[in-house]
Amino acid sequence: MATQPIATVTHGGDRTEIRVVGTLDHTGAVEFEQAFTKLRGTVVLNLGGITRITSYGVGMLMRHLAGIGNQHKVEFAECSETMVDQFQMLQFSRYGRITSFHARYACTRCGRNDVVLLDVQRDLKVERATRTVHSPEYPCGCGGRLVVDDSLEFVIEHA
Ligand SMILES: [Zn+2]
Repeated sequence: MATQPIATVTHGGDRTEIRVVGTLDHTGAVEFEQAFTKLRGTVVLNLGGITRITSYGVGMLMRHLAGIGNQHKVEFAECSETMVDQFQMLQFSRYGRITSFHARYACTRCGRNDVVLLDVQRDLKVERATRTVHSPEYPCGCGGRLVVDDSLEFVIEHA
């Protein structure tokens, strides 16, 4: 059975980007392991293309992250909605921090849904004392406002 390539590794300066796409499960285990073998500097895990992840995939991801944690700083970039669901449930903060993620938005007037890529540093304001995350609003075509339609509390732990 042919499997889709799931991990692409790019080296640049003092960082390594691992771009992961598709379904993260046991079928990509060997390729995924190879992606973690030649790393240098900060490891940027681009999780924007992950459409589905199994519990096996979550375990695999955590195992590899635990393996490199002492030698590399890790950043989670462009986390897909699927990955945001995982960050909502699980604690990844011991492995690295989230730099950007896809947030679900909804219009308060017409109910239209949208997905917006938010940059944690640029777009959000985190108030740790009150556990509040301030997120930007966007105008909707109907004249209403698009606001975040999800809890962003996971950002406090992972920022
Ligand atoms: Zn609207």
